[in-house]
Amino acid sequence: MSKTFDVVVVGAALNGLAAGLALGGQRTRRPLSVAIIDRRDPRQTLSGDTDARASAITAGSRRMFEALGVWEHVAPHMQAMSEIIVTDGRGPEARPVLLQFGETGAGQTPSAEMVENHHLLRGLLDAVETSPNITLAAGQGLATQSFAPGLAKLTLADGEQLSCSLVIAADGGKSPLRQAAGIELVGWSYEQMGIVASFDHELPHGGRTEEHFTPAGPFAVLPLPGDRSSIVWTKDTAEAKRLLGLSPRDFETELQNEVGSHLGKIALLGKPQGYPLSMYFAKEFHATRLALVGDAAHVIHPLAGLGLNLGLRDAAALAECVADAHALGQDIGGLAVLERYSTWRRFDTVATAAGMDGLNRLFSNDNSFLRILRGLGLRATNQMPGVKQMFAREAAGQTGSLPRLLRGEAV
Ligand SMILES: Cc1cc2nc3c(=O)[nH]c(=O)nc-3n(C[C@H](O)[C@H](O)[C@H](O)COP(=O)(O)OP(=O)(O)OC[C@H]3O[C@@H](n4cnc5c(N)ncnc54)[C@H](O)[C@@H]3O)c2cc1C
Repeated sequence: MSKTFDVVVVGAALNGLAAGLALGGQRTRRPLSVAIIDRRDPRQTLSGDTDARASAITAGSRRMFEALGVWEHVAPHMQAMSEIIVTDGRGPEARPVLLQFGETGAGQTPSAEMVENHHLLRGLLDAVETSPNITLAAGQGLATQSFAPGLAKLTLADGEQLSCSLVIAADGGKSPLRQAAGIELVGWSYEQMGIVASFDHELPHGGRTEEHFTPAGPFAVLPLPGDRSSIVWTKDTAEAKRLLGLSPRDFETELQNEVGSHLGKIALLGKPQGYPLSMYFAKEFHATRLALVGDAAHVIHPLAGLGLNLGLRDAAALAECVADAHALGQDIGGLAVLERYSTWRRFDTVATAAGMDGLNRLFSNDNSFLRILRGLGLRATNQMPGVKQMFAREAAGQTGSLPRLLRGEAV
């Protein structure tokens, strides 16, 4: 059987669903017909057992979710990050605070909020399933694809054929579509893993986010709703594997030592998961009738929790380029649209990736000269409200050329 859509999105995880909604969702001004395909059924992965990660959602991404009709589904699961501290962490008892971002005033939108990925996925799926212009074809991998100047054709594993004007590759870091298009990557592996786990604790976190820069790498304690927190614990690969091989009880003991005593006694929830960490970006963000978004286009170190937010910016910028072309009666998968998208997104991505890489290198070592230098630098920054405000605006996703969706406006 053969079907025709305006756009086919390959990958029904967070960025693919967001891109599909931005183009064909219920709140889109002139919705296109969109198919979203994935070899896995995302509805089978709606628990923390499959993805234990939690994401920091910036104020810009929140406005995008509001504009897409996703926010109402996820708002009950959000935890405001009302205070952020950055420390030079040699151990739980020796963590001088280098940088502190203050409390959010009453009635103000916090600069970022934490949400567990499985709640976000469910919210996006709920919004997709109530959008009549979007077809979700889950459990079907992509078998072959061909990109002609006038039309893209995709064949699914069950033989079904899809034709469209534009294919969006939201198929993750290993992106088979990017590879098939021959787009090269620039980047490297950190030989580090991010261990992700969540835990209950006796004492309230008060919305406080902690980023401890230890010699082994950043250790983040991130607040979740209730007396729960999530961690991203960066370790070199061998040490991460040792920790992941421990019994839950022994892991909990080591985690308690790392967290310290200020949250009281902790109790591990679920099984810790390990993610190999790398940094790269695609040399091109497009090819004939193909646009890359999210991890298919770039992967950055998770130390500032910006990877997904960058992917959402891709989805928002691409949707705007496509919608503008559609409104003018132009080819929505044509070169002009794809070049506008690539130019818009590549600088922001490369600048953010380089910033995260520099911070990781500056902090992931115990060199005493660098320790003094970063202490002086960050303490000075802490005394400068203007510079802190700039950092806060960056972390809230409010800098650069913002797509309309990130300003809360529909496309
Ligand atoms: C430890 C850690 C913590 C993080 N914390 C944060 C944070 O706090 N904030 C933040 O903004 N970001 C964070 N990130 C980054 C963020 O999690 C990722 O950038 C984001 O989840 C990537 O989503 P994606 O949709 O692009 O790709 P993926 O989640 O990889 O999805 C790709 C999808 O494509 C499908 N697919 C692949 N190939 C095919 C095919 N051939 N046919 C059909 N389907 C296919 C897959 O099944 C999958 O569903 C973190 C990352 C890590 C590792």
